[in-house]
Amino acid sequence: MAKINYKICPRCNYITQDNVPGRYCSQCGEKLLKSCKQCRAPISNPFALHCPECGGHYHLVGELSPAEASAGPIGMAQALRAFAK
Ligand SMILES: [Zn+2]
Ligand SMILES: [Zn+2]
Repeated sequence: MAKINYKICPRCNYITQDNVPGRYCSQCGEKLLKSCKQCRAPISNPFALHCPECGGHYHLVGELSPAEASAGPIGMAQALRAFAK
């Protein structure tokens, strides 16, 4: 059975299989991450937040404000509700 690797969006956590064409997130336009930024290990667990090989973080931690970092599909809805108050 072929091992499936994944591409994940470092901004909104969108997940797609590595064999699906496309280099950019279809949800937010960020470039998809297909391997660890630090050690280049492929992403075999789409729900991992950290690289199992080196512990590096997959997402844009520290590069986004906390509000942006939590603005995934659910975080975005919460943010919009907060603005509506
Ligand atoms: Zn995205
Ligand atoms: Zn790594």
